[in-house]
Amino acid sequence: MDILKPLYERVVEKNMHEVEYLQAVSEVLDSLECVVRKHPEFIEQGVFERLVEPERQIMFRVTWVDDQGRVQVNRGYRIQHSSVIGPYKGGIRFHPSVNLSIMKCLAFEQTLKNALTGLHLGGGKGGSDFDPKGKSDGEIMRFCQSFMTELYRHIGSETDIPAGDIGVGMREIGYMYGTYKKLTNEVNGAFTGKGLSYGGSLVRKEATGYGLCYFMEEYLNNNGLSFTDSRVVISGSGNVAIHAAEKVISLGGRVVALSDSNGVIRDEKGIDLDVIKEIKLVKRERIKAYLNYHQEATYYDYPKAIWSIPCDIALPCATQNELDLDDAINLVKNGCKAIGEGANMPSTREAIHYFLDNKVLFAPAKAANAGGVACGGLEMTQNSMRLNWSFNEVDHKLKEIMINIYRNITECSKEFDEEGNLVLGANIYGFLKVADAMVAQGII
Ligand code: NDP
Repeated sequence: MDILKPLYERVVEKNMHEVEYLQAVSEVLDSLECVVRKHPEFIEQGVFERLVEPERQIMFRVTWVDDQGRVQVNRGYRIQHSSVIGPYKGGIRFHPSVNLSIMKCLAFEQTLKNALTGLHLGGGKGGSDFDPKGKSDGEIMRFCQSFMTELYRHIGSETDIPAGDIGVGMREIGYMYGTYKKLTNEVNGAFTGKGLSYGGSLVRKEATGYGLCYFMEEYLNNNGLSFTDSRVVISGSGNVAIHAAEKVISLGGRVVALSDSNGVIRDEKGIDLDVIKEIKLVKRERIKAYLNYHQEATYYDYPKAIWSIPCDIALPCATQNELDLDDAINLVKNGCKAIGEGANMPSTREAIHYFLDNKVLFAPAKAANAGGVACGGLEMTQNSMRLNWSFNEVDHKLKEIMINIYRNITECSKEFDEEGNLVLGANIYGFLKVADAMVAQGII
């Protein structure tokens, strides 16, 4: 970093302990040095300064009562990062690791990601340090209701439209949306990821995983590769991982490993996805339970073991910073040729540099996992039109969006003399969209 270094130093000073936020900002500012040289007007207009300061940060107490009648207190967040392109849009995460730094990092990334989709969506993110694991349905419902008694006043179909993320699926969205309607007396689709019976869209639950594979298939094909007959490892076994696995299999690939936060299951015959869905989506058990159905499979008691399993393609689809330099070295040593980030910021900065230096195809999260939010945008369109599109219609639009993202960021990497560097292409393409809209709307 050179011209933007003083700005980055100010960001560090102001947000000293926010490790994840600083990680995201430094990675993006690094890519934007070449933009500054071409567009000095962005400095004069304070565009970079504005980009690294969220428009609004909301933090609140969430009080609820557990099944034993004890009062519980959690912290809730909504970061409304940028509305220059459209209403704030981004998921809600329930996980004990949630803090201000992670929320700001994800909201910042979301603004650039949403700009890549070509839809008019700004960026935001929210969540709580509430841990849904092991909670009863009643506890989850009471928590969601309490969370919404504050959040409802900050969101709306024209202002801020949340969706799901880690720990927030259709059940939680149902409870939150139900409370939102009760408190506002409005039925306006202020959430996406809703159930099909009350305004949800077909393909939304599959969208991030499918979108990742559409993006990757285009990327692989343009580089003489394909999912067909490839060995694929996918970390996680949640919404993104399961649907990525489903699409990889339908494209002719063999998924040999999946994981959860306790460990990894490896099945050389190819993972039996029906069993995974039964364990994870129906019974909500640990992935180790796969051994009860397939004794010949292997279980590793350590989630990172997945990166030592030989593969052609790796899709990190679990969580941030799950893949570090050592993991990257292992993957490359074992012949991995392509990485597609399904999770947000799963690879550390050092791992990304290692992949790029070793000519491994690398698809960064903000481009490769934009299918979820893109489909959220399509759900908003259907809600406004009071129409439901068929599965094929939505799937077709999703595929088109993902292929366009691939083409636009590839082209952008060429324009900025870093052909094939999609990290740079995605950061610059997203930034230029946001920066143009910011300048057009004046200093505000
Ligand atoms: P889920 O909560 O459905 O699943 C997360 C999965 O990751 C779970 O299987 C969890 O296991 C596993 N996991 C958590 N930590 C680790 C770890 N350290 N090692 C291995 N596995 C781990 O979340 P989603 O699938 O929705 O989200 C996954 C990622 O994708 C997140 O980064 C999210 O921000 C991103 N994303 C999600 C989108 C969506 O549409 N859902 C859209 C765009 C991005 P366990 O069951 O043990 O907790």
